Amino acid sequence: MAVLWDVIVIGGGHAGCEAGAAAARHGARTLLITHSWNDVGALSCNPAIGGLGKGHLVREVDALDGLMGRAIDQAGIQFRVLNRSKGPAVQGPRAQADRGLYRSAMRRLLAEQSNLTVMEEAVVGLRRSGEGAITGVCLSDGRELKAGAVVLTAGTFLRGVMHVGDKAEPGGRLGDPAADHLGRSLAALKLPMGRLKTGTPARLDGRTIDYRGLAAQSGDEPSEPFSYLPGTLGGQAQVACHITHTTPSTHALIRANLVRSALYGGAISGIGPRYCPSIEDKVVKFPDRERHQVFLEPEGLDDPTVYPNGVSTSLPADVQTAFLRTLPGLEKVEVLRPGYAIEYDMVDPRALRPSLEVRQVPGLFLAGQVIGTTGYEEAAGLGLVAGLNAARRVGDSPPWVPRRTESYLGVMIDDLVTRGVDEPYRMFTSRAEYRLHLRADNADRRLTALGVELGVVGSERARVTADKVAAVEALTRLLSNRNLTPSEARQAGFVVNDDGQRRDGLTLLGLPEARWEEVVRAWPDLAPTPRVLTEVVRTDARYRGYLARQESDIRAYERDEALALPDSLDYSQVGSLSTELRTKLSAARPATLGAAARLPGMTPAALTALLRYVKKGR
Ligand code: FAD
Repeated sequence: MAVLWDVIVIGGGHAGCEAGAAAARHGARTLLITHSWNDVGALSCNPAIGGLGKGHLVREVDALDGLMGRAIDQAGIQFRVLNRSKGPAVQGPRAQADRGLYRSAMRRLLAEQSNLTVMEEAVVGLRRSGEGAITGVCLSDGRELKAGAVVLTAGTFLRGVMHVGDKAEPGGRLGDPAADHLGRSLAALKLPMGRLKTGTPARLDGRTIDYRGLAAQSGDEPSEPFSYLPGTLGGQAQVACHITHTTPSTHALIRANLVRSALYGGAISGIGPRYCPSIEDKVVKFPDRERHQVFLEPEGLDDPTVYPNGVSTSLPADVQTAFLRTLPGLEKVEVLRPGYAIEYDMVDPRALRPSLEVRQVPGLFLAGQVIGTTGYEEAAGLGLVAGLNAARRVGDSPPWVPRRTESYLGVMIDDLVTRGVDEPYRMFTSRAEYRLHLRADNADRRLTALGVELGVVGSERARVTADKVAAVEALTRLLSNRNLTPSEARQAGFVVNDDGQRRDGLTLLGLPEARWEEVVRAWPDLAPTPRVLTEVVRTDARYRGYLARQESDIRAYERDEALALPDSLDYSQVGSLSTELRTKLSAARPATLGAAARLPGMTPAALTALLRYVKKGR
């Protein structure tokens, strides 16, 4: 008799690993099917995790007990907080990874996860009931497996075609087959599809690079881990990256060979990531720039491979070697593997509910690059939400829809399902309206208790976070109850006016230039307070006024979000709507009045008409 799984996850990339682990943490009997166990945890492009906006996503995944933060902590060989000189809201943790260590760490975390089985196989089709709900999957060896819900995370593998110059061949990633059968099965569901592209640079032999004369960039000392759990850092040696740049000769060579590039020779039609352009794009679109910066990033401690960040390309292999040798330090470089571009199918994310379930196929959830995102962190975040919601569906619990006001996960999912994508979607801090509230340093305080309620956070993390929250509250209370006169405050080193006003400790710590050292000078008994607490309380104190002002915006937002628009709403019946908006609303089927308001072209008058219609129907 066929085994019945609660949840089957297709694909062991960043989305699939988090989806499988989240479903299993929720208690679902979960099967993760992927082409190769060896590729689980593979970093297909740059050997780094995090960055601006992306680092926030990793912290949120970690706060919900996901795997990515712990894996990069184990594998990191250079940790840096980007934008450290700017406000905490826009700082982003980033780390270079040792590729091999990252893969091992991810596989270890999956192997330790109870309720989760991993199978090496190719899924060739989806099975549905007469009513259209998903019932399972078919494997390449002819077997069928049944499941209560399926999460599809096939990455760039759907009708994937790789291009190096004028050579094109089917594939999902270098060395891996495309998933054409599965692509056809998905096409049969008649979901709206699009075609995107992305690219990766050549990999270099670091032993042939002359680093003399190149600027070195080291990590932070001490390393700041991603995970909120204690003791997650691997402890290996930290390495430096080096910086070089393209030259006028590089640009001349690229221009002379543009017709041989897959991108500019007309072989590729998909749309690429605007924020991660190929070197061909940079040379054509910024003709006045004399140089573009290139970071030389080591791929591992025992691995001579170097990743040249900033020169992804689809030029022929001989041209790649020639142009790379025009960069300072790379005059004698040997290329280990040429760069390539890949075109692939994606499902328009507007076909999904905010739970990431396909609207017209109950029980089928999608996550990762297959719904138009780019990046490991975006994939991981979506995977976690899809896996959790697949498990909740099987357990008859309502789905979790993260809100824009509580997380970058909410921002990303709302952007995707409301507006769709016209280029690969990546996260930036500028996408979040409430970013003072959604900081990388407070994801645990925003999400872990909620994750416990949702059943996706284990007991160790629940305890660690509850202890931290209690300690932060106690320190905040204690500082609020102590105060200093202006002269006492000045003696301790605080910069305050001599206005005769006593100020409490929290107000003093929140002053722009205040440091914890001044607090200790005023109250020496607080010297032993751990830095992790003092930093959190200082940031809270500094943003107290802004956060209070943002509260009223958040309340207004949540009022609109509370008004659900039924999935079956017949927009042709709503009076005073233009035909254009009717068509737009019928296609997008926003889940709430707030989501309708965020559709491009929506007007206040149209929203009022919609509100009136929905209220009347109740
Ligand atoms: P993937 O990591 O692609 O994982 C998909 C998994 O599904 C694979 O393990 C595959 O074997 C498995 N699979 C697929 N079909 C089946 C099937 N039918 N049966 C079983 N298993 C299946 N991101 C950036 O942020 N910037 C970049 O510049 C960038 N460049 C990239 C360049 C290239 C060439 C590639 C391939 C990716 C690039 N990425 C880049 C994207 C980044 O790698 C992805 O966004 C991220 O890995 C997506 O994760 P995912 O889990 O959605 O898919």
